[in-house]
Amino acid sequence: MRDYARFKEIDELLSTGHPDEAKARLRGLQASVIALHDEVDRLQARIGSFEEMLSLPRTLVREEGLVYVDTPSGRRGPFCPLCHDAEGSLIRLEKFASGWWCPCCGAELPLHAEPVRKEPARIIQFRNKA
Ligand SMILES: [Zn+2]
Repeated sequence: MRDYARFKEIDELLSTGHPDEAKARLRGLQASVIALHDEVDRLQARIGSFEEMLSLPRTLVREEGLVYVDTPSGRRGPFCPLCHDAEGSLIRLEKFASGWWCPCCGAELPLHAEPVRKEPARIIQFRNKA
């Protein structure tokens, strides 16, 4: 709605002989529309991941620092470990030339991410209460 008013202002500038001002406002409007589309893409990726997460019986698996989901129909992923750690969401990573990219948080991860450091198991001694 706000953009509609801005389009009307630009139209008025053009009809009253102010094309340079109209061009400048159009560029600003174009930038905000591009930003809105980027936001929609990020939100759609999150929604898709939430839908997938809700619909599948699953087991989360971490391998080489990335998150995967084992389902009855096979392994899915990889998903962003940063988004998963922050909010429990499963955002599917997209592959690019040298690694993985998260469409939600923008993280870039190497193709073979460093394995999550596994701390050695702690052995807790049982004590006899005598
Ligand atoms: Zn992420």
